Amino acid sequence: MPELPEVETIKNDLSQKILDKTITAAEARTPRLVKSGAKKFKEVLTGNQFKKINRRGKLIYMELKSGDFLLIHLKMTGQLIYQQGEKIIGGGHGELAEEKLPGRHTHVILSFRDGSHLYFNDLRQFGYMRIVSQIELEKELKKFGIEPLTAGFTLQNFVKIFADKKTTVKALLLNQKLIAGIGNIYADESCFWAKIKPTRKIASLTESEIKCLYSSIKKVLKLAIKKRGTTFNNYRDADGQKGGFVKFLKVYARKGERCKRCRRGIIIKIKQGGRGTHFCPICQR
Ligand SMILES: [Zn+2]
Repeated sequence: MPELPEVETIKNDLSQKILDKTITAAEARTPRLVKSGAKKFKEVLTGNQFKKINRRGKLIYMELKSGDFLLIHLKMTGQLIYQQGEKIIGGGHGELAEEKLPGRHTHVILSFRDGSHLYFNDLRQFGYMRIVSQIELEKELKKFGIEPLTAGFTLQNFVKIFADKKTTVKALLLNQKLIAGIGNIYADESCFWAKIKPTRKIASLTESEIKCLYSSIKKVLKLAIKKRGTTFNNYRDADGQKGGFVKFLKVYARKGERCKRCRRGIIIKIKQGGRGTHFCPICQR
């Protein structure tokens, strides 16, 4: 699933490509994935322009010249692919690379006056697009918790999240209402950096462990953004580059491999709340 670093990368890349270009067509090939309805989608977008691309957690919201917003959530397997002539850039889920665009899993096509296109692909179809007003947008954004890598993500605010929680570290990190943008990959990686088992109960964490988790999240996310996120195949993002964080993964997707820190532990993967959780049984406590 595209998480904060991947979505941030998409946001930055598309900001260099699609702003101020007039949209000449907006086709919802799978109307179900356009939550505001295909008709409204077409009406609002045609002739419009994107003015600014923003991100909150894993949600992308694009401001339109008309004052409306296009919300995009890639969920498990969504991708946004921009095509200009021979050049294809995009990002999101890494395991689906269409041979030809639009492909079998292309659900929405936006066309721009300069002949370029933005494709929304989604293998499993959990992702969505939606046109909203400013008021609806604000309502939507309120659902998210603290945003890492912003000024509001202070140690003090982070500590507050932990008060009276009966859940596990992993479940807390994945809860978008508490912290926005962290998914399975970066939850597991942050726990590794902090030497904490993701299965630990919140109540068992010491003050210094919470502090360590706080700085680990910041370090992991910053590095992942710098490396343009994590993708697992040759899928290209902006300007043909791969997501480089895959080389920095310490536990995620490393089941059965030796721990790079203690060199003694073998990374294990367990099911936790229906999600795969990876950790080193030796150096994570
Ligand atoms: Zn270890």
